[in-house]
Amino acid sequence: MSDIDRSPRAPDLYVHYCEHQGCDNWGSWGNSPSPAVPTRWWCWEHFPHKTYEQEQALRRKLEAAVPGEALTVALD
Ligand SMILES: [Zn+2]
Repeated sequence: MSDIDRSPRAPDLYVHYCEHQGCDNWGSWGNSPSPAVPTRWWCWEHFPHKTYEQEQALRRKLEAAVPGEALTVALD
């Protein structure tokens, strides 16, 4: 009975934080224009390849989350 050496190979995990200067969020959004170019990583807020709709949605979310700027929302 032969036992094939199948020691699990560690996946290529490495630390990649958002590359935006001063941002220490986890870079979970990667983008690479081609396989020859190393993937660059950003957090969602700084990810520069969002669609227009995604950008607008994030903008609304950030504006709503600004502390000290209470938005007066008239609800009828
Ligand atoms: Zn960031």
